[in-house]
Amino acid sequence: MSTVAEIFKTMEYGPAPESDKEALAWLGKHERVFGHYIDGAWTEPGDTFDVVNPATAKVIARVTNGTTDDVDAAVDAAKRALPGWRALSAHARARYLYAIARGVQKHSRLLAVLESMDNGKSIRETRDIDVPLVARHFYHHAGWAQLLETEFAGYEGVGVVGQIIPWNFPLLMLAWKIAPALAAGNTVVLKPAEFTPLTAMAFAEIVDEIGLPPGVVNIVNGHGETGAAIVDHPDVDKIAFTGSTEVGRIIRKATAGSGKKLSLELGGKSPFIVYDDADLDSVVEGVVDAIWFNQGQVCCAGSRLLVQESIQDRLIAKLRARMERLRVGSPLDKAVDMGAIVAPVQLERIKGLVQQGVDEGATMWQPSWACPTDGYFYPPTLFTDVQPSSTIAQVEIFGPVLVAMSFRTPEESVALANNTPYGLAASVWTESINLALDIAPKIKAGVVWVNSTNLFDASAGFGGYRESGFGREGGKEGMWEYLVRSRGTGRAASRRVKQAPSRAAAGAKSAARGSSSESPAIDRTPKLFIGGKQARPDGAYTRRIQSPSGATVGESPEGNRKDIRNAVEAAHAAKGWSRATGHNRAQILYYIAENLAARADEFAARIDAMTEVGRRNAAAEVDASISRLFSYGAWADKYDGAVHNVPIRGVALAMNEPIGVVGIACGDTHPLLGMVSLVAPAIAMGNTTIVVPSEPHPLSATDFYSILETSDVPAGVINIVTGARDTLATVLAEHDDVDAVWYVGARDGARAVEFASASNMKRTWTFLDDRDWLDRDEGEGREFLRAATQVKNIWVPYGE
Ligand code: NDP
Repeated sequence: MSTVAEIFKTMEYGPAPESDKEALAWLGKHERVFGHYIDGAWTEPGDTFDVVNPATAKVIARVTNGTTDDVDAAVDAAKRALPGWRALSAHARARYLYAIARGVQKHSRLLAVLESMDNGKSIRETRDIDVPLVARHFYHHAGWAQLLETEFAGYEGVGVVGQIIPWNFPLLMLAWKIAPALAAGNTVVLKPAEFTPLTAMAFAEIVDEIGLPPGVVNIVNGHGETGAAIVDHPDVDKIAFTGSTEVGRIIRKATAGSGKKLSLELGGKSPFIVYDDADLDSVVEGVVDAIWFNQGQVCCAGSRLLVQESIQDRLIAKLRARMERLRVGSPLDKAVDMGAIVAPVQLERIKGLVQQGVDEGATMWQPSWACPTDGYFYPPTLFTDVQPSSTIAQVEIFGPVLVAMSFRTPEESVALANNTPYGLAASVWTESINLALDIAPKIKAGVVWVNSTNLFDASAGFGGYRESGFGREGGKEGMWEYLVRSRGTGRAASRRVKQAPSRAAAGAKSAARGSSSESPAIDRTPKLFIGGKQARPDGAYTRRIQSPSGATVGESPEGNRKDIRNAVEAAHAAKGWSRATGHNRAQILYYIAENLAARADEFAARIDAMTEVGRRNAAAEVDASISRLFSYGAWADKYDGAVHNVPIRGVALAMNEPIGVVGIACGDTHPLLGMVSLVAPAIAMGNTTIVVPSEPHPLSATDFYSILETSDVPAGVINIVTGARDTLATVLAEHDDVDAVWYVGARDGARAVEFASASNMKRTWTFLDDRDWLDRDEGEGREFLRAATQVKNIWVPYGE
C-alpha cells in the first residue's frame, strides 16, 4: 500500500473513463449495420465494410458501400425535394435548422462518445469542441436562413449540393457543409469518410426525428468511388469537398466545364511563428493545441514551428518538458490529452514520414514514455535541425509531428512562413500588437490567429489561399458558396441587347480600311501591352480584324505562350499595387475614366467599325464603360471587410485581400465594356492583370493602351495580350504564377481553363458570354468584388 507522501510524489492520474454504454446501446439498436439515409428513410444494408475503433483495433459496426445506383437515388431524392424546400418561407427553413441544433444538443453525449469511438479523438475534444461547435453552426445558420431574403437579396440556392467530407472532424465537417447549404435553400447528398461514418448516421436520425422533409438531407456511405459518383452526377449543381489536396485536384478536373460550383478545403502546412518577445509559457500551451489537438490530424495544424533564433533553445527545452507530461491513451478517458490515430494506413504514413525526416538528417525527439500498443497510437514528436526544403518541412504529415526551424528577422519569418504551396492558416505569437498586425497581412493564409491557435466559430469564415483550396466555410463569406444570382435576373435583357450579327463570309472583299467614317484611317502598327510598354508579339504574327460585314477594320497582334509569360512576369513585378491605398487606386480608376471620356467619340467609332452595332449603341457602350470605371473608383476604398462577432474576448477581422495575379479572358460582345467590367474590379481590389481582349473585336483594347499610358496606371498592373482567346486563357490557367483566371466564353473554353487550373489550384471564375454588360445589376457590383478578393480572418484575442 502506498503512503500519502508517496502518492504526492508520483501524482499518477487514475483512469477517468466516460461510459460507452449509451453508444453501445445505440449501435445495438441498429444491429451494428447501416445502410444509407435517402429520401427520409434508411435503405437496407448492401455490401458492407468494417468500421473500426482505432483505440482498440476492434470492429464496432459495418456500413454499406454506396453504389452509383445509391448515389442516383439520393440525388434524385434531393432533386425532388428541392422545389418544396425552396418554396418554404425563410422562417420555416430557419426553424428546421434551429430544430437540428436543438437535436444535436439533446444527443450531445451520444454524439461525443460515438465520435471518440469512431475516430479515436479524445472525449475531451469531442465533448468540449466538436459537438458544441456543431450545435453552434446550426444555430448560427438558422440565423442566416431567417435573414436570407434580406441579406442575400437577388440570390438563391444553387440547387442540389454534393458534399464529401474527411475523417478528422466527421460530425463537425458535416455541420460545416450541411448547415449553410440548407440555410441557403439547397438540398444535399453527403458522403462521410469511410473511416468515420457513425456520427453521420446518428445525425440522420436527428434529422428524421425533427421531421425534416424527406430528401432535403441524404447521406450515402462509401469509399472514394462513391464520392466520385457524386462529383460526376449531372444533376448535382455544386460540390463542397474537404480532404487532401490530391483528391481536391481530381475533383477540380472532374468538374471542369460542368458548370458545377465548387469549394475546396484542402491540406496545409501551417506556420506557428514565435517572436522573441512572446510569452513563452502561453506559446507552449499554444503549441500543444496547434499540433497535438486531434493527434495533429488537423488541416490547419500548426505543424511548422518557426522560432526567433534568440529564444529557440529556451522554447525547445520548455516544449520537451511539456511533451514529457502529455498523456496518450484511451480516447474515452477524460484525463487524456491525445487519443489514437484514425487508421493503420494513416499511422504508417506518419511513421514513414518521420523516418524520412530522420534519414534526411533532422533531429527527432519523443517523450520517454511508451504509447499503448493495442490500438493505433503515436507519440507527440518534435523535429529540430530541420532544413526548410526537407520533406518533413514541406509535406503535410497529418499526425502529431512538429518540425521546428529558426529565423532571425521578421522579414525572414514571413519568407519562411510563405515557403509552402499551401496557405490555410497561421499563428503569430508576440506581445507587440504592431508586429502582429504587420505580419498577419503578409502571410499567405486564409486564417491568422494572433497569440492563439485553432480557434473556430460559425460566424468567421475558414478556408485557404493557394493550394489549400478556395471558398470559405462559416460567416457571411461562407454563405456565398451556396448561392447563385437568382435565375432570370437580367438574362432576358441580356438577350435583347446582345449584339451578335453573323460574320460575313470569309474573304469578302474588304471595304476601305477604317470603313467607319470617323475611325482613324491611319495604318497602326499593332502591338501588345506588357509591363507598361507596347511590345511586339513574340511570334511577329498579326491577324486581320474584320467587321461582321467583312470590312477590314485593322490588324491585331497574335500573342503566344511567350507573350503570356512575359505579361505574367510584368504583373508579378507590379505587385506593389496591392499595397497602394484604396484611395490611390480610386484616383487612377477615375483618371482612366476621365481620359476615356475625352476620347469617347473615337472609341465609339471604333466599336461601331468592329461590331457594326450602330453609333448610338457604340456610344452607349463607351458611356457605360466610363460609368463602370467610376463605380469601381467608388468601390476601391469602400469594399470593407467585417469584424466578426466570435465568442471570445477579442475580434476576428475579416479582411478582403487581393488574390494576386489575375488572368482575364474577355467575351466577344461589348469589346470595351466587357473588358472594363472585368479589369476594373480586379485592379480596384489591388490585383494585377493579364487581359486577353475580345478575340473578334480586340481593337478597343489596343486603343486602350494609350489611355492607360496617360492615366498613371503603374507598369504591369494591366497587361494586354491579344490573340486566340481560348488558347491564351489555357496558357494562363496552366501558369503556376497566375493566382486566378476569369474566363468569359464557351463551355469548352471554360472546361479547358478549369481543368488546367488544377496545377496550382488557382481560383477560376468562368461564365458564358450571355451577360448583359449594360445592365448595372448584372455587369457590376459585389459579385465581381468577391471574385477579386479572398477573405483573411485575423483573430485577435485581447485582455490580460
Ligand atoms: P481524401 O482526400 O482521400 O478523403 C476525403 C474524402 O474524399 C473521403 O470521404 C474520401 O472517401 C473521399 N474521396 C476519396 N477519393 C475521392 C474521389 N476520387 N472523388 C471523390 N471523393 C473522394 O483523404 P484521406 O482520408 O484518404 O487522407 C489522405 C491524406 O489526406 C491524409 O493523410 C491527410 O494528409 C490528408 N487529409 C487532409 C484533410 C484536410 O482536412 N485537409 C482531411 C483528411 C485527410 P474515403 O473516405 O472512402 O477515402
